[in-house]
Amino acid sequence: MKARLTEALRLLRPERVLEYSREVTAEQAWLLSRTCFVYAVFGTTSVALITADFWGQMGCVGIAAAALMPILYGLLLLQVRTLHRSDDTSQFLRSALALLIFVGLDWGLLIYLLGMNSNSAQRSLLAAVMVGLVSTPIITVPFSAALAFLIPCGVASVVTLGFILRPVDPYLFLCFTGYLSFVYVSTVLLNRSSLERAATRIRLQHQNEVISLFLRDYQENATDWLWETDRELRFQNISPRFAVALKAVPTDFREAPLGQLAASDQRISGLASVLDMCEKRQAFRDVAVGFDLDHGPRWWSITGQPVYDMNARFQGYRGIGSDITDVRRSESKIQFLATHDSLTGLSNRSRFITELEAFCLTAASSHAEEPRRGRSVGPSFALLLLDLDRFKDVNDTYGHPTGDALLIAVAERLRRVLRDDGFAARLGGDEFAILLPISDPGEASIVANRIIETLQEPYALRDVTLRPGASVGITVAPADGTDPAELLRNVDLALYAVKAEGRGAWRYYRPAMDTDQADRATLRMELRSAVAADDFHVEYQPIIDLATTRITAIEALVRWNHPVRGWISPSVFIPIAEESGLISDIGAMVLDRACRAATDWPGDVRLSVNVSALQFRDPDFLSVIDRALSASGLAPGRLEVELTERVLLDENDTSFQAIASLHQRGVRIILDDFGTGYASLAMLTRFEFDGFKIDASFTAALETDAKARAIVRSIGRIAMDMALPVTAEGIETHAQLRLVTELGISRGQGFFIGRPRDAEGLLAAGNYLGAEASS
Ligand code: C2E
Ligand code: MG
Ligand code: MG
Repeated sequence: MKARLTEALRLLRPERVLEYSREVTAEQAWLLSRTCFVYAVFGTTSVALITADFWGQMGCVGIAAAALMPILYGLLLLQVRTLHRSDDTSQFLRSALALLIFVGLDWGLLIYLLGMNSNSAQRSLLAAVMVGLVSTPIITVPFSAALAFLIPCGVASVVTLGFILRPVDPYLFLCFTGYLSFVYVSTVLLNRSSLERAATRIRLQHQNEVISLFLRDYQENATDWLWETDRELRFQNISPRFAVALKAVPTDFREAPLGQLAASDQRISGLASVLDMCEKRQAFRDVAVGFDLDHGPRWWSITGQPVYDMNARFQGYRGIGSDITDVRRSESKIQFLATHDSLTGLSNRSRFITELEAFCLTAASSHAEEPRRGRSVGPSFALLLLDLDRFKDVNDTYGHPTGDALLIAVAERLRRVLRDDGFAARLGGDEFAILLPISDPGEASIVANRIIETLQEPYALRDVTLRPGASVGITVAPADGTDPAELLRNVDLALYAVKAEGRGAWRYYRPAMDTDQADRATLRMELRSAVAADDFHVEYQPIIDLATTRITAIEALVRWNHPVRGWISPSVFIPIAEESGLISDIGAMVLDRACRAATDWPGDVRLSVNVSALQFRDPDFLSVIDRALSASGLAPGRLEVELTERVLLDENDTSFQAIASLHQRGVRIILDDFGTGYASLAMLTRFEFDGFKIDASFTAALETDAKARAIVRSIGRIAMDMALPVTAEGIETHAQLRLVTELGISRGQGFFIGRPRDAEGLLAAGNYLGAEASS
């Protein structure tokens, strides 16, 4: 709409005036038609008076010329009437021009004839008539009509004055010719200015017509409205569309001038800047004015410019307004979607990075000011990286909808803990980041503690209750750096350290972590060569029947003999082996070696081998088992495979099939580390196990924690009811041994019973219980 308006105005620029010459000519025709009447009245009267004065001196030709005059004037008036009827201006101009030439010629002839026959007394009348006649073109338009009359009258008058009247009066002649020149110049000038005025007026009229046409169109079809104010900035001539817009807002702009409203109405924003520009008499464009309504904000966009009268006096403002609430809403929705995580409503990674950059900038500048101020301004913010413990297991066990519900609940709790103190974002998956303005580094760990405690509370989701827990890495700026990438790397390392050390806790970033990380990368490389060089060693730890103290099984535990670092625990390198895909090779080696070793043991002692999640999912796993059994000749019934709950969370057909195939071969399956993951009880019914091991953390807590005792007792009962052997791991003391026995646990394993050792040492040790207990 605005574009069409602009185009129309462009077409009406002054240089295009010539396009209106037709209208200008028409207007001149109408002006001529009005003066024709004056000519006819004065011309006919003058002819009558002259005829009366010169009667007897005129001769036949003179009388005929005088008689022709009223006829010609009559014909002229007839043309005027035709014009009024037909509106054919060009036809009128043509015939009027022809008639005026004839009238001029007739007057020229009459002057000439009267000049020849006049006496001295009549000369003044004749001179007056001549002056009157040549003056007539001054009021005549168009210029052609003025000339048509002026030329014959002027020529006849000059000839009469110069050559016919005797004696010749040179002063009169000169005066008259001078006057004639003046008349000519005046006619030219007046005609030109009249022409220009007419053209300008017609152009303006056109402009007005076009503009009002467009404005009407605009008012009728656009959603925008036109507005105007008086000098006091009070709205006036409120258009129907503006009235509709007014109904939707709480402020009635008819009530008071803009200034008063801006000052008094707290619900309007942006009006002050409009008012400011109005007071400076400035034009403004697309200024947003907001209204605070109960059901959400409403927005107008206002464009306006000051209006002045001909004398440059300010008359008020005029402009366009439109309701842009919907546009704003969708803009802010798009903005929200671009910067927020759609699941939790927290900020997303991109917004978080922007915010982090801003925090870093502030921290960097405060850091730079420190030396100048001569005192430390302290840390300015902490970056916390939070990761839910075992979130993948939740997704795998209960499905993604439950995982999503958990993430929503976690975000909600994070908001509750932080309130307005920090900025939280979900970076992806189960990873959340928090920016926390602080004045002391210790504040970050207080908040981290609060977060961990809050997130640890059980979540009642759909039909399950979960307690996933969380680990938090912390880095502090500017102490640890002010570069966003550096801080992100730091906090990542800190989080990694928490997870490596056992989850559910927080750690501050320490520069040493960089080395840890580098170490890990080095270990990964070294592990590869260790696999090639077979730098591994398998140790064996007995599992005894607590009632008889006889060894029922022996667990194979792998160790890495590092050329520089010495013995490395599997809990350090197994995760690295899993990451780098070396686990299947290591697992196959352990199986092969352990099966061979087991053939030396008494026939009733079983071999327990740990199998990692990735190894278990390897399509080659069953053939690895088969190869180890056939190569060693160990009876499949003597082999136990220890699986952790994590292996079995992936409840797909492959897991079931693998378990079934192992059972078919007679291999037994033991659930390891029972009680550290999810849904342990459900797991017992879903998969067919031949026994399970209670995690060492329960055994460690037995002496001090009544709850741990209650749990272990219940597990003992369940195992008994299911007729499954249950092993307590990590028995380190006599008291623990006594307690697990009292609580109904059938089997035991731990340093108190027997430490892991090599195959030879194990056989030599004989009955473990007494040997280790006394050592
Ligand atoms: P796990 O299967 O639960 O094995 C028991 C772990 O507890 C062993 O640690 C063992 O040395 C340790 N342990 C035994 N008794 C006691 C005790 O009284 N007190 C304490 N504090 N610890 C005790 P290790 O050998 O470091 O193995 C750690 C984990 O690494 C194992 O936990 C197992 O999950 C994994 N692992 C060990 N060998 C292998 C293997 O060949 N393959 C795979 N995939 N994983 C293995
Ligand atoms: Mg084990
Ligand atoms: Mg275990």
